[in-house]
Amino acid sequence: MKPPSLRKGKTPRRPAPKKPYNNQKDPVGVYCRVRPLSCDDEECCIEVIHNTTIQLHAPDGLKANRNGEYKETQYSFKKVFGIKTTQMELFEDVSKPLVDDVIHGKNGLLFTYGVTGSGKTYTMTGSAGQGGLLPRSLDMIFNSIGPYQAKRFVFKPDDKNGMEIQNQVDALLERQKRDSQQNVPKTPSSRQRLDPEFADMIRPEEACKADGVDEDSSYSVFVSYIEIYNNYIYDLLEETPVDPLKAKWNSGGTPLRSNTEFIPPQSKILREDQNHNMYVAGCTEVEVKSTDEAFDVFWKGQKKRRIANTQLNRESSRSHSVFIIKLAQAPLDADGDNVLQDKNQVTVSQLCLVDLAGSERTSRTRAEGSRLREAGNINQSLMTLRTCMEVLRENQMCGTNKMVPYRDSKVTHFFKNYFDGEGKVRMIVCVNPKADDYEETLLVMRFAEMTQEVEVARPVDRPICGFAPGRRQRNLAFKDELSRRLEERGGPVDTEIPAALNQLLQSFPPLPPCEISDPSDDQTLPRLIEALERRHRMRQSMIDEYNRTANMLKSMLQEMDGSLMNKENYIHQQQGQLGEKDKCIQDQKSEIDRLEKKAKMLEYKIDILQKTTNIYEEDKRTLQHELESREHRLAREQSEKKRMEARMQGMVYDTKLQWEKECERRVNAKQLEMQNKLWVKDEKLKQLKAIVTESRPENPPARPEKPQRPSREKDRLPAKRSASPSPVPTGAPVRPHHRRSHSAGNERWVDHKPVTNVELDTVMQPNLPNSIKVSTPSEKALSKADKYVLTHQEVASDGEIQTKLIKGEVFKTRSGGQAVQFTDIETLKQENPTASSRKRRSSENQPPQGDGNMQGGWTDVENRCSVAVEMRAGSNLGPGYQHHGYQKRRKP
Ligand code: ADP
Ligand code: MG
Repeated sequence: MKPPSLRKGKTPRRPAPKKPYNNQKDPVGVYCRVRPLSCDDEECCIEVIHNTTIQLHAPDGLKANRNGEYKETQYSFKKVFGIKTTQMELFEDVSKPLVDDVIHGKNGLLFTYGVTGSGKTYTMTGSAGQGGLLPRSLDMIFNSIGPYQAKRFVFKPDDKNGMEIQNQVDALLERQKRDSQQNVPKTPSSRQRLDPEFADMIRPEEACKADGVDEDSSYSVFVSYIEIYNNYIYDLLEETPVDPLKAKWNSGGTPLRSNTEFIPPQSKILREDQNHNMYVAGCTEVEVKSTDEAFDVFWKGQKKRRIANTQLNRESSRSHSVFIIKLAQAPLDADGDNVLQDKNQVTVSQLCLVDLAGSERTSRTRAEGSRLREAGNINQSLMTLRTCMEVLRENQMCGTNKMVPYRDSKVTHFFKNYFDGEGKVRMIVCVNPKADDYEETLLVMRFAEMTQEVEVARPVDRPICGFAPGRRQRNLAFKDELSRRLEERGGPVDTEIPAALNQLLQSFPPLPPCEISDPSDDQTLPRLIEALERRHRMRQSMIDEYNRTANMLKSMLQEMDGSLMNKENYIHQQQGQLGEKDKCIQDQKSEIDRLEKKAKMLEYKIDILQKTTNIYEEDKRTLQHELESREHRLAREQSEKKRMEARMQGMVYDTKLQWEKECERRVNAKQLEMQNKLWVKDEKLKQLKAIVTESRPENPPARPEKPQRPSREKDRLPAKRSASPSPVPTGAPVRPHHRRSHSAGNERWVDHKPVTNVELDTVMQPNLPNSIKVSTPSEKALSKADKYVLTHQEVASDGEIQTKLIKGEVFKTRSGGQAVQFTDIETLKQENPTASSRKRRSSENQPPQGDGNMQGGWTDVENRCSVAVEMRAGSNLGPGYQHHGYQKRRKP
C-alpha cells in the first residue's frame, strides 16, 4: 500500500482488499491442436499417437540431409486435439473452465501460439458456422448471467482499471443520452443483422451455461480489443475523431479505404493499478449486453485492424491481438432489488483471449526493410515470452529469485499478473503437420514443453457478502405477486377485504328491522341499540381474538424465522466446508494428474534413455569384438614378423660367414702368391749376391739378410726362417698354455717402459731382442709388432719394488686399428735401491695399504695407457682387459 501522502483525490482510497494468500499452484495448461493438411497428398509430419501425445516425424528431405540423425520425437500435453476435433469440443475442454472461473470472479488467460497458418486465428475466432473460442466464451457468459445483468451504465469503469457503481438516476440519464445519440448503433436484435462473416457461428443446440451463478448479484460485461504491433499497443475500439469535411465514412463508422485522410491510430501505454494489475491506460471498454452485441464490437475492431494493416502496409500475422472480456459483478442490496452501492463490493474478473503473432523466424517470411525491423520486434516479444517462461520455470524449480524480464516486451508486461500473481493460464499450441513447417514446429514444441512446467498461483474464491442468499428470488416473487393482484383488481387498491372477512361479516347476527313509522315507537330503537351493542361486543371479542392469534402467529413466525435463519446459516457453513473440501479434492486431483503426467513423461524419458543405452551397449560390444579380432591379428602378425626376422638374421649370418670365408680364402691365396713372388725375387737376389760376392772375394762377407716372411709362411718353413732370438724372458714363468710356443723366437715385441720406471740391474731384467722400445704406447709401434709387454712397477706392502710384466698379443681390429689382448702377468720382485729417497709418483701421499696400492696401480696403468680398457670375458687375467690403439685414419 502506498503511504497516505501519495494518495490522490479527496477521499482517501481504501486499502486494496487483501486477497487471501494462496500458495496453491497449477501448471500452465498447454493443449495442442493439430490442423488438417490443406491438401491430402502433402507430406504429414505429425501423428497423434495418444490423446495427450503427438509424434513428430522428420520429413523425408530432412532425413536425407541430416543422415537420418533426426529421430522421431514425442511431445506430451495436457490434451491433444486431432484434426477431427470440432470447435465445440475444444471449447468444452479448454475455454469452458476459464469462462466458469470468470463468472465466479476469477481471472483467466488463454492464448494461441504457433507458426503462421497453423490455425491460431481459426481456433480463437473461427469462421462462419464454426465459431471459435472467443464467440463461444462470450455466448456462455451471456447465457449464464443473462437474467442477472445490471441495467446499462449501472457499472461504470473508472480510469484506473476499477469499476464504480452509479446511482439509478445517473444511470438512467446516461441511458437516455445514449439512446438520443444518433450514431450509436442499437443492439442488433437478431443474428440476421450481423456481419455475414460471423453469422451462425454458434448453433443454438451448442449453447452452454455455467453452473452455480450467484443470482443475488448483478452483472455487466465490458469488452476491449487491443492490438500489439511492433511493441506498440493500439486500441481497436477507439472512436476516431471525425473531420466531416475531409473524411468519408461508411455506414459502419469506419473510414473508407479510398479516404486519403486516414488517421493512424495512437499507441497506448501500460499502467499498473492499485492492485498491481496491468492495464492499458485510456483503453475503450464497451459495455455489452448480449453475445451479438459483443461480437459486433469485436468485428468492428477487427475491421479497423484490417484497414490499419492495409493502410500502413503491415503484416497481420506479425501482430498480437488481445480481446479482453471483463465481467463486473456486485451483490444486490438486502431487499434483493438494487445493486449495492458499495464500490468495495464490486468484483471484476477478466478473461484475456490472445491470438499471438506467428512464431516463425524472420528468415522464413523474407521480410525487408522496416518490415524486417518490425518482424524483429515481434519476434523479440515472443522471445521475451520464452525467456520469461524459462526464468519463471528456473525460479520455481531451483528456488532461485531471478528477475523475470516481463518489461522487455509489451505482451509479457501486460500479462505479468497472470504469471506472477494469480489466474488460470492456458495455451493452445497450434500446429500444421506439413513438412515445410517441421523445423519451426520443433521450436514451438520445445517452447510448449517448457511452458508446461511453469506454475501459476491458483485464483481464490471471492469473499461472500453478508446478505442472506435468495434475495433476488424473494424480491421477484414479491413483485410477481403484487403485479398479479393488481391485474386481478384491474388497478391499484389501497385496502383489500379478504374473502374470509366477508364471510366473517356475514356470520354476524342480522340487524333487526329499524324502520320507525311511529314517533312514539319505543321498541325499535332499543332493539336496534341492543343488536348493535351485541355486534359491538362480538367485534370487540373478535378483535381480541384476532390480536391474540396475530400475536401468536407473529411469535410463531419469528420463531420459525429464527430457526430458518439458523438452518440457513448452518447450511451455508456446511456448504462453505463442502466447498473447501471440494477445492481440496480438486487440488489433489490436479496434483495427482500433474504428477501422473510427469511420471509418464519421466517414464517415457527413461524408456528413451534405456533404448539409447542399449544401442550404446550394442555398439560397445561390437567395438570390443572388433578390437579383440584386431589384437589377435596384430599378435599373429607380430609373431610372423619375429619369425621372419629370425630367418633373415640366420640368412645374414650364413651369408656373412660364407663371405668371410671366401674373403679369407682369397686373401690367403693372394698372400701366398705375393710371398711366392717375393721369395722368387729373394732367391734371385741371393743368387745375384752370390755371383757378386764370388766376383769380389776381398770384400768381407755380408751378413745374409733373409727376407722375412709372414708368420704363416714362417710357421710352414721354420728351419729356414728362425733368425731372431726368442723374446721370452728367461726368468719368467711361462704358462703352459701360452701361445708364445707357436711362434717362439720370431715375434716382434713392443717393449713398453714408462719413463717413471726404476732401472733394475738384475738378471731378472727382461730382455727382448729385436723389440721396439717405447715409453708411451704408440699405434705405429703396435702396427709393426705382434706382441706387447708393459713393464709396470709398484711398491709392495713390504716396501720392495714389485715389477710386473704384463704381456699381450697384438692383433688387428676390424676397423683397421690395433688391439692388445693381455694374456699373462709375470711378477718380478726386488728390493728398492732407493727405498727411502725415491718414491713413486703413483704412491705419493698414499698410505702403504694393499687396497690403496692396488687402486693406485690400476689407475697408473690406466693413466699411462691413453687407450681404452675393455673387460674381456674368459681372460685368465681375472678381470681381463684390453688396450686399444685406434687408428686415426683408415688406410686407403
Ligand atoms: P494462423 O492464424 O495461425 O496464421 P489461420 O487460423 O489463419 O492460421 O489458419 C490458416 C488457414 O487454415 C485458414 O484458412 C483456416 O481456415 C485453416 N484452418 C486452420 N485450422 C483449421 C482447422 N482446425 N480445421 C480447418 N481449417 C483450419
Ligand atoms: Mg492468424
